Amino acid sequence: MNTEKQFPPGMLPLGKDKFNFHCHEGVDCYMLCCKNVDMFLYPYDIICLKNFLNISSQKFLENYTRVISGVGHPYFPSIMLRLTEDGTNACPFLQKDGCGVYENRPSSCRTYPLERGVDLSPEKSLESDFYCMTNHEYCLGHFEKKTFTVKQWIRNQRLEDYNLMNDLWSEVDTLFSDNPWGGEGSGGPKQQIAFTACYDINNFRLLVAQHDLLHRFRINREQKRNIKEKDSEMLKFAFEWVKNFLGAPSSLIGL
Ligand code: SF4
Ligand code: SF4
Repeated sequence: MNTEKQFPPGMLPLGKDKFNFHCHEGVDCYMLCCKNVDMFLYPYDIICLKNFLNISSQKFLENYTRVISGVGHPYFPSIMLRLTEDGTNACPFLQKDGCGVYENRPSSCRTYPLERGVDLSPEKSLESDFYCMTNHEYCLGHFEKKTFTVKQWIRNQRLEDYNLMNDLWSEVDTLFSDNPWGGEGSGGPKQQIAFTACYDINNFRLLVAQHDLLHRFRINREQKRNIKEKDSEMLKFAFEWVKNFLGAPSSLIGL
C-alpha cells in the first residue's frame, strides 16, 4: 500500500520545523494583505462573524458575501467575502488601525501565512492535516525574528475550533461533490435546504423549530439544550442532518 502523501506542487509540509513570522503594526506591509483578497468563508466563519456583528446569518450573507458556483465541483455554491466597492477593494472589516473583527476573524486570516491541507485518505494511522508555508513577496512578516512551530501557531491563533468545524464541513462538502441532487440538479429545493443548513444558521433554526427536527432523532436532553443555545452546536446538528437527509451515514438515529 502506498502511504506517501501527495502535496500541492511547490508546497512542502512544515512538519515540526520552526518558521519565522511576526505580523504587527510596525511592518511596512501592515494591512496590505487585507486588500484585494480572495477569501472563502466557511460555515463556522459565518457564525463567528455574524454573532460578533450581532446580525442574522441572512443579513451577513446579504451584506458581506457573494455566493459563487462551487469551486472544485459544480454541485454546491461557495461563499466568498465581498470586498468594498469604494476603490480600495478592501476587506469590509478593515478599519483604519487594523482588523475590526480580530477576535472573530475567519479561519483563513488566522491560518495565514500557513495553508492547511487535509489528507482524506482512509488510513486512519496517518496524520490527517498538514501545513505549508505561503510565499507572498509583499508579506514582510517572514523576515521578522519571532519563530513558531506549526503547533505553536495553531495555539497562538486559536485555530483548534475552526479546524474542527472546518473538517466537519469538509465531510459534508465532499458529499456534495458527488451530485447528491439527482435529476433535481443544482439550485433545486434540496440544494436550497442544504444551503440554509450549512450557511444560514438563523433560518435553519426556524426550520428546525417549524418541523420539530430535534424530536425526530435520538438526542439527549443536554445535547438538545446545547443545540438550542449555541450556534456551533446547531451547525454540527445541521451537518449531521444534511448527511441524514442525503441518505449518507450520519450520527443521527431516527425515532
Ligand atoms: S477579517 Fe480582518 S484580518 Fe481578515 S482580511 Fe479582514 S481585516 Fe484583514
Ligand atoms: S502582508 Fe504579512 S506581515 Fe504584512 S500585514 Fe499582512 S500578514 Fe502581516
